[in-house]
Amino acid sequence: MKIGILAYQGSFEEHFHHLRLAMSSSETQGEVLPVRKLNDIKVIDGIIIPGGESTTLGVLMRRMGILDELREVIRSGLPVFGTCAGAIMLAKESADAKVKMEQPLLGVMDMAVVRNYYGRQRESFQETIDATSIGAGKVLVPFIRAPVISKVWGPTEILVQLEGRPVMVREGNALATTFHPELSSTPSFHGYFLRLVKR
Ligand code: GLN
Repeated sequence: MKIGILAYQGSFEEHFHHLRLAMSSSETQGEVLPVRKLNDIKVIDGIIIPGGESTTLGVLMRRMGILDELREVIRSGLPVFGTCAGAIMLAKESADAKVKMEQPLLGVMDMAVVRNYYGRQRESFQETIDATSIGAGKVLVPFIRAPVISKVWGPTEILVQLEGRPVMVREGNALATTFHPELSSTPSFHGYFLRLVKR
């Protein structure tokens, strides 16, 4: 199995590390590869879109000529895991908490997000979430200039919530978290994604 990580910006190394841990604890033979250009997409069985800056990610994906292609392969079933800015990329609707703006999105999940929702005061914080639903138990996870998922509809299911807000959601082959699972102490979130890839 080959898992790609979009490697324009953001926490590539930490995702790499957590994926390797999840692979070894589930006895999965696999490779983890950086994804930057069109040909990289053609050889992978799943992709992680990490955190960073979603506006920049979208512009880079368009400039590198992979935005439309990636949307198509995800629609055709390629498993995808978007974290923080990556989750924003997967949403069908994105608004900014302060400014009115448009940004290039993959738009493959039935959800709406608000970028930079927590504003200055709580821009970045850690919180313990109850991820029992995916077999991870209670885990301390960081939210870094995190978006909020303001609405889900259609087949999108809420896997984990915090204070009544969805923080981990899934729609078929697409998985999203508003927090950074690669900076938590457990590879369980990556393990859950590997199970989606294996289905
Ligand atoms: N605020 C960023 C955005 O809007 C996301 C932050 C992150 O990925 N840590 O894209």
